[in-house]
Amino acid sequence: MKTKILLSLVLVTAALCSGVAQEENKDKLLESFHAISSNEIMEYVEELSSDKYEGRLSGSSEYMEAAKWCASKFEEWGIAPANQGSYFQYFPNAYSDVLELGEVIYTNNGQATKLKFPEEYLPGSNSDSGTLEAELVYVGHGITAPELGYDDYKNVDVKGKIIILETGTPYTKNDPELGKWTPYAYHRYKFRNAVKHGAAGMIYASKIANPNTVHLDGFIYAHVEPKIVEQIFADAGKDYSAVKEQLKNMEAPSFELPAGQKIKISAKTLYHPDAQACNVVGMIEGSDPELKDEVIIVGGHLDGQGQMGGVMFPSALDNASGVADILAAAKAFAQSEVKPKRSILFILIGGEECGLYGSKQYADHPLFPVEKTRLMINLDMVGNGTGFFLTGGKTYTDLYGHFESANNQFIHRGLQTNAVTKNYGRPRSDASNFENVGIPTFGLWTRNSVFPVYYHDPRDKTDVLTPEIMEDAAKLLYLGIMGVANDETL
Ligand SMILES: [Zn+2]
Repeated sequence: MKTKILLSLVLVTAALCSGVAQEENKDKLLESFHAISSNEIMEYVEELSSDKYEGRLSGSSEYMEAAKWCASKFEEWGIAPANQGSYFQYFPNAYSDVLELGEVIYTNNGQATKLKFPEEYLPGSNSDSGTLEAELVYVGHGITAPELGYDDYKNVDVKGKIIILETGTPYTKNDPELGKWTPYAYHRYKFRNAVKHGAAGMIYASKIANPNTVHLDGFIYAHVEPKIVEQIFADAGKDYSAVKEQLKNMEAPSFELPAGQKIKISAKTLYHPDAQACNVVGMIEGSDPELKDEVIIVGGHLDGQGQMGGVMFPSALDNASGVADILAAAKAFAQSEVKPKRSILFILIGGEECGLYGSKQYADHPLFPVEKTRLMINLDMVGNGTGFFLTGGKTYTDLYGHFESANNQFIHRGLQTNAVTKNYGRPRSDASNFENVGIPTFGLWTRNSVFPVYYHDPRDKTDVLTPEIMEDAAKLLYLGIMGVANDETL
């Protein structure tokens, strides 16, 4: 009897103590949570979006300077280098500098119109240098796929001409059939196929500054706003939207435009075939002797769209915002008295805009065993809006629960989620390279944008960010990751 009472006393005291300890822990956790400030986050974004990094084009020396600045913050806060004593994980990353804005002039029966930058055209990020004037041929998606019974070039002669090209593929449904079209969805495939057919240059009917291309000697191109293509079609007596319907029906509606319609493109670029870029990797070792072997990865791409002829693409929302949120959460982890039981790896990813080079580098050369990696959360465009979207929550419900309860208890924003769906098309997110090697992934971005979203555009500046949502994103990240890191039931 005596022993029984003694035992229950011991148990109650233990429970009380752990209750007190838990409360103390919670107070300390909330202290770090409240220390995350939008002012600091905006300082990080201003730094990363500033002219000195020239839009953080992956492969450029300015990108490397931005990477070094991030590593210096890790070092300042006591976040350890994660790659054998180094904060950097390098990989090859050829790229081109756009030295001049060049020009694009459209002539219809002798009447010339100079297109306006950046509203109507952007220089081709990997165009060769030179000036070219030629007649036009519309080639739809520019795909030659004999095994799929499809050829955009079958009825047209593009030799020495400027082609008008669409992005993507005619097949858009996300099912296994789409996988057959994936190799044809890459910009670099389309460019090579155009050159193979003898095209001299190209107008890309999609105005995005996108280094995800390939350098081809002598091939000159520019991106134009689709409404310009619509005008060119109208001048040729064609209805652009009707032709796009034909494209969707896989009718390959290519045609040569009348000889009176011409385009002149001037471009000046410099190709750097041997450049390299890096991921920035910092870690906080877990505090539990066993669980510390497991890791949670928090990542987002550091690279942006660079500069064109001295015009900066600050790439503030895409994706200085994600990096700034990660830095803020990383600092909170490093400075808090509450230590995560599992280890946390922060990875600021390079080469995303070039075609997901940096995340592929990590997936091929992981710094922690993949089977010990519990979660990778990827932040991309997390800084303009009033609500959150966290992809993958319906697939990984245990992990998602930590983010949901953090939001419900302390943040109170709209939070939406979905299930991970296999992407059969061209992968567009760094998360896909982690998911493909078997790591559960979440993707976080903000929704209900407050300001216009200038995607891959010089107007993607810090003034189109909402500091409040950035602070809340970093707080959600901090509490959600802490929850996952300390969950012994996983
Ligand atoms: Zn992005």
